[in-house]
Amino acid sequence: MSADTQKQSNKSKDSGSTCSESPLKIPDHEVNVSKTLAGLVIKTDHAMEKKLNKMKKSAWNVRENAYCPYSGFQVGAALRSAKTGKIYVGCNVENAAYPTGICAERGAVMTAIAAEGKNIKFDEVVIVTEADEPSAPCGPCR
Ligand SMILES: [Zn+2]
Repeated sequence: MSADTQKQSNKSKDSGSTCSESPLKIPDHEVNVSKTLAGLVIKTDHAMEKKLNKMKKSAWNVRENAYCPYSGFQVGAALRSAKTGKIYVGCNVENAAYPTGICAERGAVMTAIAAEGKNIKFDEVVIVTEADEPSAPCGPCR
C-alpha cells in the first residue's frame, strides 16, 4: 500500500464514512462544463457556463455526504428551479433493505417539491460522480 493510499484510507476511517472517498477535487480554475458533460452541453455562453459551474460545485459538494456502504459509489445532483432560480441538491442514500434507499436526483427532486410545491419545473439538472465516463441513471430513473 502506497503512502497516498494509506493516507486516503485513514481519511475514510476518520470521517466515519464507509463510502470510498474520492481523491478528486475540482479546483475552481479547472471546471469547464463543456468538457465535463461529455457532449451534453456543446456550446455555452459565459453566463450559462457560470450557472452550470455553480450547480456542478453544489452537486460535487453534496456528493461527499452520500451514504453508500454497499455500492461505494457517491453521486451528487443539483437541480435549478425554473421559477425561483434556487438550486436543490441531493446525494444517494443506500439502505440494507434494498430498494428503500434513494438516488441523488430523486432526493434533490423531493427536496425541491417540499420547498416549492408539486408544480415545480427545472431549468437545469447536473449529476456528478467520480467516474471518468458519464454513468447511466439508476433503475427507477431510466
Ligand atoms: Zn435515480
